Amino acid sequence: MTESNLVAGTWTSGGGATLRSANPTTGETLLEFQELTAAEVDAAVSGARVGAPEWAATPPVERAAILNRVADRLEAATDEFGALIVAEVGKPIREAREEVVRSVAILRYHAQAALDPHGDTIPDAGNQSLLLTEREPLGAVGLITPWNFPLAILIWKLAPALAYGNAVVVKPAPHAALVAARAIRLFADLLPCCALTLTQGGAAVGAAVASAGLDGISFTGSTGAGLRVAKATLDNGTRYQGELGGKNASVVLPSADLDLAVATILRASLSFSGQKCTATSRVIVEQSVAEEFTTKLAVAFAAVVVGDPADERTDFGPLIDAESVARVRGFVERAVADGAEVLAGGHPLPDCGPAFFAPTLLAGVDPDSEVARTEIFGPVLSLLTVDGADAALRAANDTDYGLAAAVFCRDLGDALRFGRQLAASSVRVNGATPGVPFNAPFGPWKMSGIGLPEQGKAAQHFYTRERTLSIGIA
Ligand code: NAD
Repeated sequence: MTESNLVAGTWTSGGGATLRSANPTTGETLLEFQELTAAEVDAAVSGARVGAPEWAATPPVERAAILNRVADRLEAATDEFGALIVAEVGKPIREAREEVVRSVAILRYHAQAALDPHGDTIPDAGNQSLLLTEREPLGAVGLITPWNFPLAILIWKLAPALAYGNAVVVKPAPHAALVAARAIRLFADLLPCCALTLTQGGAAVGAAVASAGLDGISFTGSTGAGLRVAKATLDNGTRYQGELGGKNASVVLPSADLDLAVATILRASLSFSGQKCTATSRVIVEQSVAEEFTTKLAVAFAAVVVGDPADERTDFGPLIDAESVARVRGFVERAVADGAEVLAGGHPLPDCGPAFFAPTLLAGVDPDSEVARTEIFGPVLSLLTVDGADAALRAANDTDYGLAAAVFCRDLGDALRFGRQLAASSVRVNGATPGVPFNAPFGPWKMSGIGLPEQGKAAQHFYTRERTLSIGIA
């Protein structure tokens, strides 16, 4: 049994249920590990509390140096991490490598951010004191992460949490246990004992971390789980940030460059088999260009290179597991029952492996049907045709979610209008919905999130608390 938990400075196996992380392409077990029990999670959180003061007192320039050393280590291990991501979650190698490169950049960005200004001076109304604000670390924070960006999401929470001086308890998704354990080893020997804790396990371990009374919880995952975590944190007065699901639209207007729109939306909907919170899952196309756009998109779907994610030529690999194939199949069958027409795919690909499902394009989708409204988290793109730009904007915004949206057009007025009126935290004009700039704020609008945004300068606001200090000068 591998020691994949880091508790109070010691690598240890847990005493709870045995879980396994498997290669989705082959079904081969990569890691068997025991999750922590509730009592072990308590011990892990107590350890983080012990480690917090020393790390908070570590000078920012030393924190920055440590994050830069981790970045150097990760960069040197780009090929190893790329291969690990391919093996553990089935992400095609080109995308996996991009994830590693991006994670290195995120580490370097937050290393510098440790030295950013962290307060303001404010004119005292009576001119009798020096009035200022200053930010300090929250203390010990918990990070609960999903499997779909097994490295980048972990790093975009962990790097700022550490940069601003917090001790951290990490709870990764079981499907990504191996990448998480390897990534935590890049940091652990550089940090004071107990500044970093790794608690492996499923929803029960996540729930235990969420309700442990930590000073902050940053969660990324499904909306259902994120809402449950929100309630647990509320009971303890724990600061909470939940980055949740999406049902992202790309709008195609008559002035669009249709070839650009086809190529970009193909990537936006099918990269990592549609298993991205920001994946385009609805295309709203204006009727005057609907026929030409649809024909081109269906051709592009049929030409996607499906296969082994370790192969450089592969565009499209497996889903995370065979259960996801059954779930996605259910969505497609119910969509067809609701009147949708399958223009491409619509079925599993058992010859490729147990977790493969074909890139699927549905036309004639009823805007009120399940497939148009529910997050699928798989390779299914729904086409909705509308009459005019106003109807396109209404349709794009007619969703409970507000994560990402895009518009394709060459008309400047449309670009500005849609850019400002699409109801999503991340909007792209002539660009793909996925791809989050790590130096800009991200989330959380509508049911796609709760609390403060993350990334960029927004991360400082989440991982620190602000004191107002008045020093009398009279
Ligand atoms: P998930 O909600 O099943 O799990 C996410 C994490 O939460 C895992 O570590 C899991 O073990 C833990 N967890 C599950 N139930 C819990 C509970 N009741 N209490 C505490 N922890 C719990 O999500 P997933 O399948 O790993 O990832 C896919 C989901 O993540 C999709 O809905 C996707 O949209 C979302 N996501 C959102 C973003 C974003 O930034 N908004 C980014 C990536 C993924």
